[in-house]
Amino acid sequence: MATKNLVLSQLTGKKTYTEIVFKQVWGKVETYQAAHPQQKIFMMAFGDTTQPLPPTVVRALVDAANRLGDPKTYTGYEDITGNSELRQAICANYYREKLGVELESAEVFISDGAQSATVNIQELFAPDNIVAIQNPAYPSFVEGTSLAGRFLVNLCCQEENNFVPKPPEQKVDLIYLCFPNNPTGTVATLEQLKAFVDYARNNQAVIIFDAVYNAFMTTPNIPRSIYEIEGAKECAIEIGSFSKMANFTGLRVGWCVIPNVLTINDTVPGELNHLWRTRNAIKFWGTTNVAQQGAIAVLSAAGQKECQEQVNYYLQNARLLRNGLEAKGLKCFGAIDSPFVWIETPQDLSSWEFFDKLLYSTGIVGVPGCVFGSGGEGYLRLSALGQRDEINAAVKILVDSLPEPEQWQC
Ligand code: PLP
Repeated sequence: MATKNLVLSQLTGKKTYTEIVFKQVWGKVETYQAAHPQQKIFMMAFGDTTQPLPPTVVRALVDAANRLGDPKTYTGYEDITGNSELRQAICANYYREKLGVELESAEVFISDGAQSATVNIQELFAPDNIVAIQNPAYPSFVEGTSLAGRFLVNLCCQEENNFVPKPPEQKVDLIYLCFPNNPTGTVATLEQLKAFVDYARNNQAVIIFDAVYNAFMTTPNIPRSIYEIEGAKECAIEIGSFSKMANFTGLRVGWCVIPNVLTINDTVPGELNHLWRTRNAIKFWGTTNVAQQGAIAVLSAAGQKECQEQVNYYLQNARLLRNGLEAKGLKCFGAIDSPFVWIETPQDLSSWEFFDKLLYSTGIVGVPGCVFGSGGEGYLRLSALGQRDEINAAVKILVDSLPEPEQWQC
């Protein structure tokens, strides 16, 4: 008799991030829209991209598809660790040229985006490993940890510390860090990241560093890769993605770096890297070959230039949004190094109360901060990954219709 996975079934219902967003957030929007059919809705809840793929990438995808349609150039399965040209381009054009970090291509694994990599990477570690996660956090870190049945320790992110936590006081084995952070949009300094690297090295812990938004960083002298911190290769796995830097949310290409020098208890150099190969050989035979050709084009000189222009477009959206909110007296974070604006709710409103007020007075839809963890209560996240005319219209309605701070009482 087959029986269901109880952990998975307990997570479903109304408890996962996607279900909350799709059922509760979307449910409120639908109810409101039914009662106010004339009201324009500004959907700023989802972190999905809206700009088209850059021309250099489109050409590469079309060429790749044509090669698959020709018997002389057709290719089948890729190397399961990913296209070797792409892995080399990630090392040379991205890590070495942009960040000054030296990696070998055998240390890079291509994935179908960062989502699966950030959660699946836990399979490298023993079931009793304790996991520390920022609170608030990108929800799949928490949900993936619950699914794996691992004990979770919260790393509280507070405004006083610009939402960058301190290393845990107790002993943990795995530490998720995400900078620029989703949802708060903030970044960590070299000293703040060094404290985590020191902790990890002293405790034989491993940092899982989510760097999905690093193309959005504009503040100078902030590390864009955990490997910019001395000694980090010995204790950190880094996960990157083409989703936000090149509008690949639909194409699905990301990567994961497992340095050979990364060792934990009872392992030799290269062993974790090898174990991940074994795991992928069993469970994952790579992402689409056409999409990987598109990713190679992203890392060409022309591709990087075109992608950076689109990232700048989103950043400009974020700044316009933040300026509009601040003009109404709201306290905001993010939008400088990330496409997210993290708004402190006025007059001690709860996240959901503020969500309602914003929706009912302007038609703008965000994600209540509490959905990202208890530390997000009292905040709301807006995504600026939309179209500029939508952002401009939203800012106009914000300025025209949002109540002044003292009128924000429930
Ligand atoms: N990590 C963070 C912090 C994200 O915000 C997202 C997507 O929004 C992901 C990972 C997943 O990205 P991908 O599209 O590469 O799977």
